[in-house]
Amino acid sequence: MDLFEYQGKQYFARYGIPVSAGGVAVTVDEAVAQAEQAGYPVVVKAQVQVGGRGKAGGIKLASTADEVRHHAGNILGLDIRGHTVERLWIEHASDIKKEYYASFTLDRSAKKHLGLVSARGGIDIEQVAEEDPSAISRIHIDPVEGLSAQAARGLVDQAGLDEEARAGAADILVALYRCFVEGDCDLVEINPLILTPDGKVHALDAKVTLDDNAAFRHPEWDEFRGVAKMDPREEMARERGLQYVGLDGEVGIIANGAGLAMSTLDVVNQVGGKPANFLDVGGGASAEVMANALEVINSDEKVRAIFINIFGGITRGEAVANGIVQALGRVQIKSPIVIRLDGTNAEEGRAILKEHESERLVSRPTMVEAARTAVEMAKRATR
Ligand code: GDP
Ligand code: MN
Repeated sequence: MDLFEYQGKQYFARYGIPVSAGGVAVTVDEAVAQAEQAGYPVVVKAQVQVGGRGKAGGIKLASTADEVRHHAGNILGLDIRGHTVERLWIEHASDIKKEYYASFTLDRSAKKHLGLVSARGGIDIEQVAEEDPSAISRIHIDPVEGLSAQAARGLVDQAGLDEEARAGAADILVALYRCFVEGDCDLVEINPLILTPDGKVHALDAKVTLDDNAAFRHPEWDEFRGVAKMDPREEMARERGLQYVGLDGEVGIIANGAGLAMSTLDVVNQVGGKPANFLDVGGGASAEVMANALEVINSDEKVRAIFINIFGGITRGEAVANGIVQALGRVQIKSPIVIRLDGTNAEEGRAILKEHESERLVSRPTMVEAARTAVEMAKRATR
């Protein structure tokens, strides 16, 4: 789950990372009230889950209530790279002497955590990486050993931050790494990390991606989730305990196992279709699970055909077929369905399905044939 900047700053603050005081506003009047609280000058910041807000006109300084009114009015409703601004964050403006960059992520190929620091912050870090890779200092961190104060200082020295910023920046790195690990994040990024004219270092922006697999350890994340904009289909799938990712196409997909689900997306693409989703029902394909999966796919207005791709392993084919048939009895399905059933007792399973076949429910023996049929059905339904 991606957090909004202000949520990321709230998360940072728990780990002792210095951030500016401020408040959220969803109307112009609220923005003025928050500005009065924070104390002028303030910065009015669009809260959208996409970078480059500054360049898009979503970040404005204001010294008076009138200026806040003006900027808040312009920014609310603004479209920033496909994201409409519905919420503002108003914070006391900082004086900036220097802008730096700091982040932690997981480097999967190295099986280590990766820390990045640069003295060239504020701007797009990808651009810095392209123009001058040597301007970004890196450190691989053994997750078991963690990041020592000494290693953090070494990284800051290597990145060549200004002398007066180094101690403060190293402290922030240690706190940010704790936030990354103990806070179960996939990514923490501060851009810019600033040095103020009076020699203080603090986080002016916050990008945080939480690792959803760790949600069970963090009941407090629910408050973030309430606000963060979730795909309604994904919300529905999450409530039903399904592994679901929403996509843009017309062919709804149900498969058992993440690997098979991904191959199914590939095959549908290969035969000229567009998948509407990734949905892994896991090991079992009981009537309960199938009904839940079909309900989620049904809620997707774009879906024109459904492709159920099940490979029987421990779950036998006839159990899968019975599950599908029972689910169909429970849910009023809007689109035609193609089923490919293979693996353990596939023959028995197909025999059960055969009794229920119709124009809107067909079975195909192979994945490619089933995908073709589903894509044809989707195209016919669209016309
Ligand atoms: P982004 O464009 O989405 O990354 O948004 P940021 O929060 O990083 O803000 C973009 C830029 O706006 C920063 O790099 C700063 O140069 C500027 N900015 C943001 N907050 C302040 C502030 O409090 N004071 C000043 N002077 N500039 C700010
Ligand atoms: Mn930024």
